[in-house]
Amino acid sequence: MAGKSFKYVIIGGGVSAGYAAREFCKQGVKPGELAIISKEAVAPYERPALSKAYLFPEGTARLPGFHVCVGSGGERLLPEWYKEKGIELILSTEIVKADLAAKTLVSAAGEIFKYHILIIATGSTVIKLTDFGVQGADAKNILYLREIDDADKLVEAIKEKKNGKAVIVGGGYIGLELSAALRINNIDVTMVYPEPWCMPRLFTAGIAAFYEGYYANKGVKIVKGTVAVGFNADSNGEVKEVKLKDGRVLEADIVVVGVGGRPLTTLFKGQVEEEKGGIKTDAFFKTSISDVYAVGDVATFPLKLYNDIRRVEHVDHARKSAEQAVKAIKSNEEGKTIDVYDYLPFFYSRSFDLSWQFYGDNVGDAVLFGDNDPASPKPKFGSYWIKDGKVVGVFLEGGTPDENKAIAKVARVQPPVENLDVLTKEGLSFASRK
Ligand code: FAD
Repeated sequence: MAGKSFKYVIIGGGVSAGYAAREFCKQGVKPGELAIISKEAVAPYERPALSKAYLFPEGTARLPGFHVCVGSGGERLLPEWYKEKGIELILSTEIVKADLAAKTLVSAAGEIFKYHILIIATGSTVIKLTDFGVQGADAKNILYLREIDDADKLVEAIKEKKNGKAVIVGGGYIGLELSAALRINNIDVTMVYPEPWCMPRLFTAGIAAFYEGYYANKGVKIVKGTVAVGFNADSNGEVKEVKLKDGRVLEADIVVVGVGGRPLTTLFKGQVEEEKGGIKTDAFFKTSISDVYAVGDVATFPLKLYNDIRRVEHVDHARKSAEQAVKAIKSNEEGKTIDVYDYLPFFYSRSFDLSWQFYGDNVGDAVLFGDNDPASPKPKFGSYWIKDGKVVGVFLEGGTPDENKAIAKVARVQPPVENLDVLTKEGLSFASRK
């Protein structure tokens, strides 16, 4: 069988792929050895920018400004960088078949790629309302956001529907960041979500109350406890109304849906061990199949700190897991060993003038501290999570770099706590003096 052959192939050209390429270079990859095959038409970029500065009316981010690895303060890897290093970037190429036993990949156009070592970095895809057959969900201007093409459609819609109305379906990361981005663009925004408060997977009621209040002050309307069950369109097929389960009908020129993602593992189904919806790996991101690694959103890996196995859909882990896999591959070739992955979960988000960070695990009892009045000129508040008498997770809104470092340290060290009332009173100073 003819086709291109590489020593290393990364399937997927997102965050992990970019950070893996940089690590391959550090470790001394030779020209022609590494290829990245990506469905997207552009070199790897920092995906979180798509729901933030990419949508801003001023100070807008555009490529090549946010190619990896600028998100973590590193050198920006422009398309020329890959060329210089002899790394083949095979773009606009979707792999539609993977045969792990034959070490062969086939693209939608029928090209064949062979590899010695494969890194699976296919990330996630959005869950669509059409997946559940929601009535009218295929109308125009019902949009999703995962890749740069989706972001471009959103930018177009914002321009076209100037000062129009948007309904944001979903109250998670995407819902909150996109509501803010659209509001900044002077769109009239209503968020709809079924839960009693936003981001329930991470936020406590106390944390959420601040964001809901702050968003309300910015003019974002919030409809909780119900879901979108159908859409009405005009004669052009463009969405006009969102029908809610509770009977209400909301006007909309744009609908953005952020109801979660699904790791892209379909190509490998039945060929590799899976767990918790992802591809099962060891602490070096090696899968059950030799010479096949999985990193980023698709990997279910051992989280040493909690003696658990988890899948993490966040950019910090995408970067670090990619680096760990490449280090493992290269050290293995040299007969050396490296330390196991010892990850401290880190999530963050930014919207309006707000910025929060979270480190650790949000389990056990939560205590809220600080000034969480949405009307404060400079709100700064947070939450500790305490389990078995130890702090295991910390959230902080409005922290300085030093304060964020301090909460990260606390989440890692897990200091004991005797009295939750004292901890509440001490607030951030508890973390700062550790
Ligand atoms: P991705 O970066 O998604 O890359 C996957 C790549 O694989 C894509 O290029 C895709 O096209 C390609 N691909 C998939 N299937 C195929 C195929 N069959 N053939 C070829 N190519 C394929 N995390 C945070 O911690 N903070 C944030 O603020 C934040 N903001 C975000 C905002 C948005 C809009 C999105 C979508 C995500 C955000 N995340 C954030 C999550 C973070 O971006 C992801 O966890 C991270 O990108 C995962 O990296 P990855 O390499 O696993 O996957």
